[in-house]
Amino acid sequence: MAALPALLAALAAGDVEVVDLTAPLSASTPVLRLPEPLANTATFQLHELSRYDDRGPAWYWNDFTTGEHTGTHLDAPVHWVTGRDGEDVAQVPPARLVGPAAVLDASAQAAADPDFLLEVDDVRAWEAAHGPLPQGGWLLLRTGWDARAGDQAAFLNADATGPHTPGVSVDCARWLAREAPITGFGVETVGTDAGAAHGFDPPFPCHQELLGAGRYGLTQMRNLDRLPPTGAVLVVAPLPIVGGSGGPARVLALVER
Ligand code: MN
Repeated sequence: MAALPALLAALAAGDVEVVDLTAPLSASTPVLRLPEPLANTATFQLHELSRYDDRGPAWYWNDFTTGEHTGTHLDAPVHWVTGRDGEDVAQVPPARLVGPAAVLDASAQAAADPDFLLEVDDVRAWEAAHGPLPQGGWLLLRTGWDARAGDQAAFLNADATGPHTPGVSVDCARWLAREAPITGFGVETVGTDAGAAHGFDPPFPCHQELLGAGRYGLTQMRNLDRLPPTGAVLVVAPLPIVGGSGGPARVLALVER
């Protein structure tokens, strides 16, 4: 059978499930908070135009305001100064937005230590168990952080020393960008870098290294616990904002059952 009829048959039979990895967008969707004097992004807001009333008797519709980096979203290379000559979000080739997902579960480590950092050895251990990272694929870091997504304070987990959320070490970010065959790196947290990454050398190494190498970031995902370590197909669909540094994205996974 040709590939697409086989896929459609598997979907109809329930042999392939579509799992939504996207956080719902609303005014309570958590957003990054940077300290003064740095600029901050907007929370998502709906602005009602009409709702079956004098402003539009048979129809309901809204405008909305949002940041490019609000909710589940893609970071395009141009988001970071190291990728300033790279693609904006509308220029990302669509073929790169569909690919295999490798899911690394660090939820136990992140539960024990909110500042947990993924190291190269963790990825090597995953590869020893599951095979090499997939060419043109997405490495997704499961931390259990999606359970906090209903509460901005718990999600950002900040105290007097700044935010405490899991991420990636400098060495591992460099390795992922320079040695790994991945298209992108995805997380459940508000950004691909750890909460404490403002103090790393260099700061925000995931952004610096991965976006500088033309890879993509994917944030604020949920339901990674419903994916196998390998074998799922990721479909990443960011809004094609012309000139945009990133964009809200619907992210789906096709999972064999
Ligand atoms: Mn971002």
